Amino acid sequence: MIAIISDIHSNLEALQAVLDDIEKRGIQRIVCLGDIVGYGPNPRECLDLIMERCEACVCGNHDVAVFYEPYSFNLGAERAAFWTRTCLEEEPNKEVRDRRWQFLGSRPVKYRGEGFLCVHGSPRKPINEYIFADDVFSNPNKLMDNFRRLEEMTCFVGHTHVPGVLLDDPYFDPPDELGEPDVFELGERAIINVGSVGQPRDRDWRASYVVLKEDRVEFKRVKYDIEKTVKKIRSIGDLDDFLAERLKEGR
Ligand code: ZN
Repeated sequence: MIAIISDIHSNLEALQAVLDDIEKRGIQRIVCLGDIVGYGPNPRECLDLIMERCEACVCGNHDVAVFYEPYSFNLGAERAAFWTRTCLEEEPNKEVRDRRWQFLGSRPVKYRGEGFLCVHGSPRKPINEYIFADDVFSNPNKLMDNFRRLEEMTCFVGHTHVPGVLLDDPYFDPPDELGEPDVFELGERAIINVGSVGQPRDRDWRASYVVLKEDRVEFKRVKYDIEKTVKKIRSIGDLDDFLAERLKEGR
């Protein structure tokens, strides 16, 4: 069994709740699809937990943004990226500070497991491309091109913060519309979005992740102390209040 998590976005309460849930299920292996930081109030703590608990972690666009000028970010996201950089830079312990920067700056863009691929965005543009449910109707060529470039049967992605399964028909199923709700039986080519731990956008505020078993993928939701996270965001001037509001609304 492998737990696959994504888009933590410096939300420590959500990450801790998900890690506890994973441990409770007796799952030892964890892979992270990136965006450890950005938006939220606890980049240091989230980085430390991911370094300690994950066997692999690929690079997300918000992880990159801490190093360079944020690219195509809205104002709130850009300010959060600059704040994150300062927060990591102001860590007083040099060894700890360097270890976090080193980790964040050396993430691979892809990770290959046994029969599956892990990326943040999409198979053809691993860091930045969004694969939306709407692409089934509005941009099927983009989807089909991604499936063509996919060598594995299964690809795990994050980035949109919306969990679900894309098939090459093309077709998108949110978790609750799968044959057995929240369960995808492996066997056909699929791009599976694991949703977001720290900032879900499917109108459900609970942290999202998946468990990969031998023949199936199970979608999980976990409650966490969201009020605590919201309070922290509101207390940091460089983090827009909207970032707290959207957590509560799951958007
Ligand atoms: Zn993200």
